[in-house]
Amino acid sequence: MDSRLEAIRDTVLARNPGEAEFHQAVVEVFESLGPVHDRHPEFLEAAILERLCEPERQIIFRVPWTDDTGRVQINRGFRVEFNSALGPYKGGLRFHPSVYLGIVKFLGFEQIFKNALTGMPIGGGKGGSDFDPRGRSDAEVMRFCQSFMTELYRHIGEYTDVPAGDIGVGGREIGYLFGQYKRITNRYESGVLTGKGISWGGSLVRPEATGFGTVIFTQEMLKTRGTSFDGKRVVVSGSGNVAINAIAKAQALGATVVACSDSSGYIVDEAGIDVGLLRQVKEVERARLKEYAARRAGVSYVEGGSVWDVDASVALPCATQNELDGGAAARLVRGGLLAVGEGANMPSTRDAVAVFQEAGVLFGPGKAANAGGVATSALEMQQNASRDSWSFEHTEERLTEIMVGIHHRCASTADEYGDPGNYVLGANIGGFVKVADAMLAQGLI
Ligand code: NDP
Repeated sequence: MDSRLEAIRDTVLARNPGEAEFHQAVVEVFESLGPVHDRHPEFLEAAILERLCEPERQIIFRVPWTDDTGRVQINRGFRVEFNSALGPYKGGLRFHPSVYLGIVKFLGFEQIFKNALTGMPIGGGKGGSDFDPRGRSDAEVMRFCQSFMTELYRHIGEYTDVPAGDIGVGGREIGYLFGQYKRITNRYESGVLTGKGISWGGSLVRPEATGFGTVIFTQEMLKTRGTSFDGKRVVVSGSGNVAINAIAKAQALGATVVACSDSSGYIVDEAGIDVGLLRQVKEVERARLKEYAARRAGVSYVEGGSVWDVDASVALPCATQNELDGGAAARLVRGGLLAVGEGANMPSTRDAVAVFQEAGVLFGPGKAANAGGVATSALEMQQNASRDSWSFEHTEERLTEIMVGIHHRCASTADEYGDPGNYVLGANIGGFVKVADAMLAQGLI
């Protein structure tokens, strides 16, 4: 790493102790930025990097609620408003027991660059709670969401901060959160949250957008090698919103997705995953993936195993951070891997990324490859602002244009900075320069 950046990095890491995921995200970005600072010494003089690593505002709050037995439960809520140079803070809410400040900050930091890459007017933020919705009744989830919003409402707004979903936060949770916001403020402010239901201000394609977008970005990478998803064997991790829609889109483009996972294990379905059955099990019944194997002939379920033990030409990690390490990457490469498109945020460890890059595997980092979700959230905000709702076809066309544009921005930036095909470099520099220019123009903010 550039020695000027090393000193800034060390200060950032020391100022934020015990936040391993945030450190990882910061280091990965810093490793790409040396060449930018050679060309733009003004960014160093104005301390853009130091400012970028310090969130504009961090909110941590108590979330008390009662469970179905009447017992009081306490969770911790977070919202990190990281950077508003390009627009209102924008980024999802994650409900998962692993959530703590370091996770929210890593996600918020990544979101700054991702949102810049989309070309839409949105800043970066992220939030969530250590609440675990798994195994909770609808009534418990509703009481939790109402309590969470009872604090959060004072910090958000269509011109201020616009949360959406992430792990553990889907249409049900967004509904409860929106209802409570409306009740407290007495305002039908559609643009305050995205990922809403289609009959009350949501956008068509938003549920599909992250998974679809990941596949569109990966298809663009494959085109640079004169190939496509058609006829490819694909493995996907996760079986949530992003994973299911990535599976659907990859198969629509002619691929066979042979495996996917949840945190308990993975399934192998050599005939190609039946997306209808997967949606029924995971989205309607909220059951475990094991149930899919129990209902379909010829499917095996591996309890506790790693889905990355299954060979494929394309891997789409769509579960969570650091789920694919150097060992798994090396195994996938030996199995003939051609491309990786990250649907999740930072699913590949730094070792894994190095293995992919050394082996010449096309590697699309999450901040570029999974930007379709937030981009479509920005399209939802556009529809809300104009009190309009677009057709599925039109919205998907816009999503496709945006993903092709992000691919182009990453690829041309990597070319410009002398490292063709390095999408990590292209995404980090492409996003950074846009935000840095805006911060410079706006004075000492
Ligand atoms: P969901 O909650 O819908 O699904 C998450 C999936 O990942 C589930 O299958 C879950 O399994 C699995 N998973 C979660 N945590 C772990 C873990 N610690 N170990 C193994 N598996 C795990 O979330 P999404 O699909 O919305 O999000 C998936 C990823 O995509 C996240 O990294 C998220 O940040 C990212 N992303 C999401 C966007 C969106 O629009 N939703 C936008 C951009 C990125 P289980 O049910 O067993 O927990």
